[in-house]
Amino acid sequence: MVDIKSLRREELYNFIEEKGEKRYRADQLFSWMHEKLKESTDEMSNIPKSLKELIGREAEFITLKTVDCQVSSRDGTRKYLFALPDGNLIESVYMEYHDWSSICISSQAGCSMGCRFCASTLGGCKRSLTASEMLEQVYRVQRDSEKRLSNVVIMGSGEPLDNYDNLLRFLDILTDEKGFNLGERHITVSTCGLVPEIRRLADEKRAITLAVSLHAPNDEVRKKLMPVAERYSMKEIMDAVRYYYDKTGRRITFEYALSEGINDSLSHAEELSGLIKGMNCHVNLIPVNPVKERKLKGSSPSATAAFKSKLEKNGINVTIRREMGRDIDGACGQLRRKHLEADLHV
Ligand code: SF4
Repeated sequence: MVDIKSLRREELYNFIEEKGEKRYRADQLFSWMHEKLKESTDEMSNIPKSLKELIGREAEFITLKTVDCQVSSRDGTRKYLFALPDGNLIESVYMEYHDWSSICISSQAGCSMGCRFCASTLGGCKRSLTASEMLEQVYRVQRDSEKRLSNVVIMGSGEPLDNYDNLLRFLDILTDEKGFNLGERHITVSTCGLVPEIRRLADEKRAITLAVSLHAPNDEVRKKLMPVAERYSMKEIMDAVRYYYDKTGRRITFEYALSEGINDSLSHAEELSGLIKGMNCHVNLIPVNPVKERKLKGSSPSATAAFKSKLEKNGINVTIRREMGRDIDGACGQLRRKHLEADLHV
């Protein structure tokens, strides 16, 4: 069966023409799936019955089942738990603030990267998501929302650059002018620092924002938090990030989760400033969310403010990430983990 929602428009033309149908039928189908966000041929009024039957025999429409949806009473953030067709669970988070609205999607069910502050990785990586499974997270949430989604962030469970081909397919379809038509500038891909793939993505020369989870000012501290630091040094990451900027002209975002006593001292802030000084970049400080299986503690508000102020004095662009949905298992992977535990009775 062909996963029809994962086909780029050109591929859909080929699929349809190979079946002896006219090319414009592919445009109609593409629009029903990716612009009007319909889930089955029953809802596609201008598609002839014979083509619907053919699609029914040879293709499948991937859809997600909503298992849970928690809504924050504080700020309206919605956290979704979706079941993939094979039963694996993933999370997506919808946030809105004034005139923007954003969805953070997952790229894998679980994650193999092992970051110590993250709940998504506790059961390893079950599998990578297809393009249609990533798209469907966006579409499901859009169907529930009055506002048009203005931003898509690939920062949920999974390492998107570890699912590189499906990620590019997802980006091609999401930005297609005859589909959802989201501008590349409204998309952020977040990586824990896979150096060869950062360079590969740079060579694509897309206007996508790259967010790098740095979380440390040097290799020694990074190795305590992120096993991937054993594979790629800070110098290799910085070289790859500069390469990305040279190729795309896009300002880099560095994510830095502050953990008490690990990476949050003023000397760490000084060292971080030296590392990124002169780079067109932005630092997002995130107080670590407590994860019950992990012993890490988030930094205090005063330590967070002092860290920020040190970076600012050194001329670094920095913000403290607004905490949204803290009352609803806000940290990445926690809602999924809770459901998996309930199923396993652990
Ligand atoms: S922080 Fe991201 S890369 Fe690291 S384990 Fe969690 S999901 Fe994977």
